[in-house]
Amino acid sequence: MPTTDPYAPDNIFAKMLRGEVPAHRVFEDDVALAFLDIMPQTPGHTLVIPKLAVRGIEDMPANAWGPYMTRVQTIAAAVKKGMEAEGLNLRQYDGAAGGQTVFHLHFHVLPRWGGEMLRRHGDRIEKQDVLKEQAARIRAAF
Ligand code: 5GP
Repeated sequence: MPTTDPYAPDNIFAKMLRGEVPAHRVFEDDVALAFLDIMPQTPGHTLVIPKLAVRGIEDMPANAWGPYMTRVQTIAAAVKKGMEAEGLNLRQYDGAAGGQTVFHLHFHVLPRWGGEMLRRHGDRIEKQDVLKEQAARIRAAF
């Protein structure tokens, strides 16, 4: 059942897709765009968004999941390799009550290292030069 709220084309991720706001991009094709989260929970925290204008999991057409999740898998592998991570978390916050703050569907790819704690979701903004260096490492890992 699709959510009742309409997709808002002025959300920050829609603006990124249109090139209206900058992002440290690591991947883009006709299906998905991936970029570093500005408030990372771990170093290399990457967001993968579909190019379709959908708010959440119920709004995504069934036949669009395969191509999108294939990109999530490819990007997750590059994040892990580029960041030399030991493991990964894949997260999706759906709806305001589920913790979603940007209403364009996205998966979080979180590199993990044994013993390292996750920062709180949306905790603090990372320095641009740190994000730039991490994005270069991830792009080089595809
Ligand atoms: P959600 O809470 O919807 O699951 O995730 C939204 C994510 O987008 C958060 O982790 C937040 O840090 C990130 N975010 C919000 N605004 C921006 C932005 O302007 N640029 C980037 N790169 N990430 C953003």
